[in-house]
Amino acid sequence: MTTIKLPSRPHIGDVVTFPNGTRVRVANIGIPWIQPPSVACDDPECPWHGHLKIRPKTLEVVVESVRMHKAAVVIHEWVHYVPKYKRYERRRRKIHVRVPECIEVKPGDKVIIAETRPLAKTIAWVVIGKSEDVVNWTAKREVLTTA
Ligand SMILES: [Zn+2]
Repeated sequence: MTTIKLPSRPHIGDVVTFPNGTRVRVANIGIPWIQPPSVACDDPECPWHGHLKIRPKTLEVVVESVRMHKAAVVIHEWVHYVPKYKRYERRRRKIHVRVPECIEVKPGDKVIIAETRPLAKTIAWVVIGKSEDVVNWTAKREVLTTA
C-alpha cells in the first residue's frame, strides 16, 4: 500500500517500478478525455494501477466528506424538467465513492467518478480523476467533419 510521486504525468501503458520491486502498469481505462494521475499506487482496486474495471458512465461531482477509509461522500446535482409546470427543479443526491490511493481528495474538490462493480454495500462508484485532469477531446468533432 504505497504511492510514489512521478516527475511528470505518465502515458497510458507506462510501467512504474516501486522501490520494493513491485511493477504497475498505467491502464487504459477507456475514457480518452481524462489523463492518468501523476502519482502511482499499488492499490488493487484502482482503475489506473490495479485491476478494477469501470463502466462508461461518468459524473462530475463535488466532494462532501472524506472521513471514510479509502472512500468519500460526494454530491451530485442536476436539473430535472417538470412538464406540468414547464419549469426545472434542482435535484441532488449523495453518492458513496471509492477513492484510490493515487488520487487525493478534500471536501469541495470537483472530481470525475465512474460507475464500477459493487465494491461494498453502498459503494459502486470510483473516483477516476479531478476536474484538472480533463482534457479537450475532439475525436467526435473530427468524425462529424469528415463524414
Ligand atoms: Zn492508482
